[in-house]
Amino acid sequence: MLGLGIGAKLGAAPVIAPEEFHVVLDAGHGGHDGGASVDGVNEAELNLQIVNVLAQTLRQRGCTVSLTRVDANSLNFPLAPNKKVDDMNKRREKIRQLNPDLVISIHLNAYPDRTVQGLQCFYANETPGSKDYATAIQEQFNASGLPIDKQVKPTDFNLVEHSPCPAVLIECGFLTNPREHQLLQLPTYQQILAYHITAGVLTARHKTQTVRIC
Ligand SMILES: [Zn+2]
Repeated sequence: MLGLGIGAKLGAAPVIAPEEFHVVLDAGHGGHDGGASVDGVNEAELNLQIVNVLAQTLRQRGCTVSLTRVDANSLNFPLAPNKKVDDMNKRREKIRQLNPDLVISIHLNAYPDRTVQGLQCFYANETPGSKDYATAIQEQFNASGLPIDKQVKPTDFNLVEHSPCPAVLIECGFLTNPREHQLLQLPTYQQILAYHITAGVLTARHKTQTVRIC
């Protein structure tokens, strides 16, 4: 029992990655761009915290993990005329160089109606395999006992849409929802998120992997 009173069911531990499997984690925003900000909590900071916990969880399951953003700074040249565009270009370039099997961009949501809550996965429409990963992660959450019941959707988010490999964007919850605003800051809840994302990723990975008979 995790003592959060959120009824999260963790179930069996996710399986080990079947073979070399390289995941790039992208902590959304950073530097000049703090992302959503609600009651003194910045999305960019929490995205990086969640990415670090997720990186550790994936590595424990045998995955190779790289990060686009490794600290509070964005990737753009400080004097770039358009910092946001330069930052996105640098992230895409880094992903191209790393040539991973999967990209996961971590974000947090915000909405005027503060009752709206729940994690939601988005996928690159044009890249084969993206929807499979998004669906497996979303199903993992929808079955977790957390108050989440959302469907996956395609996204035109630049980084994900132009990824050379399967790519998903995960909106890990709503900073505008008072309950999730509190939960998303808790290391224990970040571990729950990381666990379920990892379980979804590895479930999809095993399904899409070519079976070798020898
Ligand atoms: Zn964001």
